[in-house]
Order: sequence, then C-alpha cells, then structure tokens
Amino acid sequence: MSNLPVQSFQPPLRILMGPGPSDVHPRVLAAQARPTIGHLDPAFVGMMDELKGLLQAAFRTANEMTFAVSGPGSAGMEACFVNLIEPGDTVVVCVNGVFGGRMKENVERCGARAVVVEDAWGTPVDAGKVEEALAANPGAKALAFVHAETSTGVESDAAILCALAHAHGALTIVDAVTSLGGIPVLVDQWGADAVYSGSQKCLSAPPGLSPVTFSPRAVEALKARKTKVQSWFLDLTLLTAYWGGGAKRTYHHTAPVNALYGLHESLVMLHEEGLDAAWARHRAMHEALRAGLEAMGLGLLVAEKSRLPQLNAVTVPDGVDEATVRAQLLARFGLEIGAGLGALAGKVWRIGLMGQSATPKHVITCLTALEGVLG
Ligand code: PLP
Repeated sequence: MSNLPVQSFQPPLRILMGPGPSDVHPRVLAAQARPTIGHLDPAFVGMMDELKGLLQAAFRTANEMTFAVSGPGSAGMEACFVNLIEPGDTVVVCVNGVFGGRMKENVERCGARAVVVEDAWGTPVDAGKVEEALAANPGAKALAFVHAETSTGVESDAAILCALAHAHGALTIVDAVTSLGGIPVLVDQWGADAVYSGSQKCLSAPPGLSPVTFSPRAVEALKARKTKVQSWFLDLTLLTAYWGGGAKRTYHHTAPVNALYGLHESLVMLHEEGLDAAWARHRAMHEALRAGLEAMGLGLLVAEKSRLPQLNAVTVPDGVDEATVRAQLLARFGLEIGAGLGALAGKVWRIGLMGQSATPKHVITCLTALEGVLG
C-alpha cells in the first residue's frame, strides 16, 4: 500500500461552457472550504433556515416544503415521483429529449402507467397533444414535463402545461434543473406542484444537491397515499422532520454540510444580483453568443421562440468532426463545451451559458476559441 503512486488531486483549470456543471465562483468554493460543523448545530440550523428562504425566493414560491435533496438533480426527480406516484396511478409524461425519457422511467419504476406524449427533439412540448392525452385519461394523477430540456436547448411553456393539468385535476411534476436561476421559474404563479432543480446549472454551485419544492396540493396528495413511499431515503414525510422542524430538527441522514454552505453562498449571490437581473443577463449573453455564431456561419438547432438562453444547441457544419473540435477546444483553450446526446449525438454541440458561465468574458472566449479551431 505504501508505494501506491497517489498524490493530491489538482484539477486543471477549465472554462465550463457545457450542459453543466457551470463555473463555480470563488466565493462559493471558499464557502465550501469553511470548517465542517454538526448538521444539528444551532449555527448550521440557522443557515438552513436562511437557505430555505433563499430557495423559496429563487422558485418564486411560498411553499413550506422547499428544501435541497442530498443528491444530484436525478435524486430530486426521483423524490418527486416516489412521493407522489403510487402503483396503479396513471401519469401523462412529455418526452421531447433525454430527460423526459428519464421521467417516464421513474413513472414505470413507481409501478404506475406512463402515457407518453412525444414531440420531436428540438421542439417544445405540444400543449394540444397534452390536452388530448389528459382528456383521454381522466383521473390521471399527474402531468410530468421538463421545463428546460438540456439535451436539446428547448423551453416548453410551463404556464400553459400547468394550467391544462389543473383543468383536468392532475398534479404537475416539473423538471427545472436547467431553468432555475436562468429563466423565469414561477412556481406559485404557474400553480406547479412538485418542482425539482440542480445545484450545478444556473445556480453555479458544485453538483450534488437538488432544490425541490412541493405545493400544498402536493403535500395533501402525499398525506393521502394508500401505500408507503417505496424509498426510505427520499420519503418526504420523514425528511421534513429534519428540514421542516425548525429548532426541533431531528436526525434523518447526515446532511452534506459543506455542500450546503456552497449552495447557500450561490443563492446569496443570486439574491444580491436579483433574479430578474440574472434572467436578463442570461438572455443578453445568449444574444451575444448567437450573433457571434451566426457571423461565423454557425446556426442554432432550435426555433427562436423556444430557445433556451442558457443552453445553445449549435448545428455541426457538414464535414466537421464534432468530437475533434471539442477535444481541441479543451486542449488548446481549456474550454469545455458539450456533445449532442441521444438522437442528436454527432449533430450538435451544446454550449452552456449557465450562472457564472454567462458572462461577456465567456462569450468572447468561446467565440474566439471556436474561430481558432474551426479556422
Ligand atoms: N433534468 C435535466 C433537465 C438535466 O439537465 C439533468 C442533468 O443534466 C438532470 C435532470 C439530472 O441531473 P443530475 O445530472 O444532477 O442528476
């Protein structure tokens, strides 16, 4: 053992402009390096109360059940499904990219029936088809959709989809992993019921935490369950003894203390900037990037009205090997951009402008580096 060739890991410096994680601000990294204290320490509990308020502000909600799941976005996704969906339920699931497909998988693993509304990758969820599916499946427990589909760079109309679900008496499960902090996520205005996000996209904290929020209707549905939540770890009725207990918090699992310092700091930074200003910054950086790409003869996959500012799917020109371009960007400029996923593999690059990676410096660097590599 003593002659194992190991040493401290020193990650290279990168510029993160892929689909996440995004660049983490030194303030957030410094916050995470502060001394670890107990997760029931009164000082820590005070920070957690603040964190809850900051998350409520970011989600634009007054939902009491708002907290961070100890796990990545996929854990937040799973928390929403396992708490709300029971065996035998029917769920209308919208699939227009990779993450809608993951939602369907969750529905089926809960022992429920997934009614899939499919749309082409690169297009938003079609509200007309969703209405037909809800009408054809009276009593559906929920409508599930991805607000910002990271695999394609498409925004779907969450306000309309939530309104349709409610008109048919269904709950809504909304994936806001890539949207929170980058474009409006208006949980109370939409009447969204269970919404989850991730720490590593437009919030620009390291990966590994998943903010979630449950509306009072969703909490009622949880209380009305006939069966136990099949996951002990993600059972919100147990988890709230820790997150919702205020000064009387009790042990559920050992919270990732330092990671939560980081998320708290990133949300303090978002609060200082202002949510509206952050949305405007993402939009402005997207416009700058788009103009530069177009000047280079590069086009975007998604039609203008449903383009996400924070995730730009750029069409790979004919005759260009997309993987070689990404490898060169990384080797020569330390710049990470993303590859296409699934049906879009080899066809697009995914350029992220998320959180701390949505700055003029990032846009100029990306355009200059692409110009340098594409020639
Ligand atoms: N949903 C969407 C839209 C995502 O973009 C991602 C991650 O990229 C996830 C869910 C899963 O999040 P994580 O990778 O943090 O588990």
